[in-house]
This record gives sequence, structure tokens and C-alpha cells, in this order.
Amino acid sequence: MSKLYLVPTPIGNLDDITLRAIKVLQQVDGILAEDTRNSGMLLKHLGISKPLYAHHAHNEHHSTAGIIKMLKEGKTLALVSDAGTPGISDPGFLLVRECLKLGFAVECLPGPTAFVPALVNSGLPNDRFCFEGFLPHKKGRQTRLQQLVAEERTMIFYESPHRLMKTLEQLAEYLGSDRQASVARELTKMFEENIRGTLLEIIAHYTAHAQTIKGEIVIVVAGKA
Ligand code: SAM
Repeated sequence: MSKLYLVPTPIGNLDDITLRAIKVLQQVDGILAEDTRNSGMLLKHLGISKPLYAHHAHNEHHSTAGIIKMLKEGKTLALVSDAGTPGISDPGFLLVRECLKLGFAVECLPGPTAFVPALVNSGLPNDRFCFEGFLPHKKGRQTRLQQLVAEERTMIFYESPHRLMKTLEQLAEYLGSDRQASVARELTKMFEENIRGTLLEIIAHYTAHAQTIKGEIVIVVAGKA
């Protein structure tokens, strides 16, 4: 019976994969991967050998047709991304929407994603929060920041190391340098760190420890009081 599973994979620590994720990957007819080489290594680690098909940001419109064809043939497929939950700042949304439009069953397994541990580790209110993903790099960036000035919920941003300081400085400019925040880096990995304080204090920390601005980063910022 055809079905599309979305299977979360570790964001660093290879032990962070659920028993059900492994079971699903063992049972499906094929695995759709953002990077077949990267996912191939994880599958090898898990002792799973399955046909792998590329489905990534650059081909997702094109590859969706081929995936729908396999589902029409009755196949069950699993979509994985390089890390974390597919569809969360990763390919997945377009395929899920198309599958649902055509009446195919879709099931996302619960599992690793970077924003949940970053939010909980931050110590900032997490009863209500908004996930902002990556801020636009150029067009629309100022507008998005302006829209967040009145946001009362805790905000979560994904960021790359080379944009961290620019983003922290702009957040301080728009939201106030005394706003509480937290930067989670390298979650689940050997050198995981969570730097907490006001935006000004965090900027001062990374100015003094510029050599640590590397790896994968989530910024969490308190909402307007
Ligand atoms: N699908 C993923 C998820 O569920 O979190 C997100 C993929 S997105 C392309 C990659 C971004 O996620 C990174 O730039 C970083 O902001 C965040 N990220 C992923 N792994 C992380 C980690 N181990 N520590 C901190 N942030 C991480």
C-alpha cells in the first residue's frame, strides 16, 4: 500500500534515531534523500541497503513527478534530509502537499530537529514560540526584522556561522540590545554549547571568542515583554 513517510535523522549524534525510524527505513521500497551520499553513510551505519533517489532543493519540482509515479505503482517511500526532520528548513513541503492533493497517505515520524533542544536549552519561555527558520539574506530581511519588533513569543532562527554576528547585531538593533537570547551551537555533538544572556552580552562573548563561531547554530530570542 503506497505511502510516504518523513523520517527524521540525527542532527549530530548518530544515536539519536528512533527504533521506529530504523524499522521504517528497513521496510520501505525506496528512500528519497537530500544528499544520497550523506544518507548512504547513515544507512550503511544502520546496516540498511535500499534504492536511494535524490530529492533536494534544486530538483524537488522535477523529482516530485517521479516520486508520484512510484507511489502510483504502490510503493512505500521514506523521505530523509541531511539532518533533522524533513520539511523543517529542508525539502519536504512541496512533496507532502502534492501527495495529499493526490490522496496518498503521508506520515511524519517524530524525531530529531534542532529547534526543539535549542528552545528548551535557552531557558526562555516555551509555552508559545515562533519558528522563523533562516532570515532572508537580502531582499525582505529588513521587512522581516521590522515585523518581529512587536512579536511577544520567543523567536527561533536558524543561522550559519558566517552570518551569526551580522544577525545578532541586527536583532539587537531592531529588538533592543538588552533582549534576552541564547545561541545553541553544535547541538548533540561533542562540542555542544549554549551561550545565554542579553544580545549585547552574546555579541561581546562571540567578539572575544571569534574562533568558536563555527558549526551549526540556532538563535533563540525572547519575545517583547
Ligand atoms: N531539518 C533540520 C531540522 O529539523 O532542524 C534543519 C535543516 S537546516 C538546512 C540546517 C540548520 O539547522 C543549520 O544551519 C542550523 O541552523 C540548524 N541545525 C542543524 N543541526 C544543528 C545542530 N546540531 N546544532 C545547532 N543547529 C543545528
